[in-house]
Amino acid sequence: MSKTTCSSHDTRAPLSATDLPLVIHHGELHAHWVEAARSKGFDLIARIRDRLHVALRCQTCGGVHVARHSVVMNAQPLCPHCIEARWRATAIAAGLTWLGRNPDHRHYGRYLPPCGHEIRRQFTFVERVASGVVSARCETCLVHREEAEALRFGWTRLGRDPQGNPNYRLYRHSCGHEQRIARANLQWGQCDCAGCGQSWTAKPSFIYLLDIRHPQTKRHYPKLGYSSRPVKRHKHQLGLPKDAEVEVLRVVAMPTGHDACAREKAAHARLKRAHPEALVPHPEYADIMNVVSEIYQPEALPILHDTLDRIEAEVIDAAHNRTPDAISAPPRTGADGNPEGANNIPEAHTPAASVPRVPATSNPGPPGQRGIATRSCAATGA
Ligand SMILES: [Zn+2]
Ligand SMILES: [Zn+2]
Ligand SMILES: [Zn+2]
Repeated sequence: MSKTTCSSHDTRAPLSATDLPLVIHHGELHAHWVEAARSKGFDLIARIRDRLHVALRCQTCGGVHVARHSVVMNAQPLCPHCIEARWRATAIAAGLTWLGRNPDHRHYGRYLPPCGHEIRRQFTFVERVASGVVSARCETCLVHREEAEALRFGWTRLGRDPQGNPNYRLYRHSCGHEQRIARANLQWGQCDCAGCGQSWTAKPSFIYLLDIRHPQTKRHYPKLGYSSRPVKRHKHQLGLPKDAEVEVLRVVAMPTGHDACAREKAAHARLKRAHPEALVPHPEYADIMNVVSEIYQPEALPILHDTLDRIEAEVIDAAHNRTPDAISAPPRTGADGNPEGANNIPEAHTPAASVPRVPATSNPGPPGQRGIATRSCAATGA
């Protein structure tokens, strides 16, 4: 027996095949083996290791790999280098960088998405990503998004659901209480804290961007506003004709109706100052809507999205800044945990307390009347 490497046969052959360098086995190199290998796309270059194995060089890529001679005779040998090249190409098509096989699962590979967090995915899954059927979401980014969503409403995302429900997560409220909540609910701020009794119904609100079309008169206006229920009742509330079409383009969750009102007002003021041409004069739409402002030209949509981007970033920032203090603060609830009692001092638990407000809205009003803290907010944002 002598020790050699298969690369001596072909300088193109990589040495990464299974377990190079290979040990040559000095048995006869049967002609019918060589012929069978050739007919299947390989050059049989040596017998190796023991009487059962041979080294095959791929006629497509020149890579060498080890196979049993029985595979050569009775089946189709597969070139691992060609397979890896395909995985690499599929990864590129899927928008990912191929990092290599997953040593723990032979059907999985390691990939780098554009965000830079390594992910492990099944090869067949990445094929579906490449063909656009599914997307390769990064778990790390998803966790970051969920953390940000939770922080807006005064909750800290702690981890997966201890009871194993994939739709739930474990969260800690700003009062210190830990609780399982469905992620979809927390996304919209719909969660009562069982620890301090703070009720979501007295809490969150939304700044929305609506797309309003009136096909009959070919009019099309985006509307920016705030509401505790941006999806429902809009047609009716805006006094639109029956044949008008309203689509919710986007909603940004806000910690309180208060916050939503103040930020929406500030946004309109800023838009009026910086982009007066984006506003539609009231007479143009007075016949189909009962609002008197907040109606923009369709060309202003990118500006409106920028405005929402900024509000979203500010809300997340504010949530991050107030969280450490909020967590260390003692729960301020009655001994009986009565939610009504807690709601009577809405600001006590409001994580947005540090968010700057316009002075006119500093009185949040009694529970149940969120969003109508002042007449001006009520008039435009109900
Ligand atoms: Zn190959
Ligand atoms: Zn990521
Ligand atoms: Zn709580």
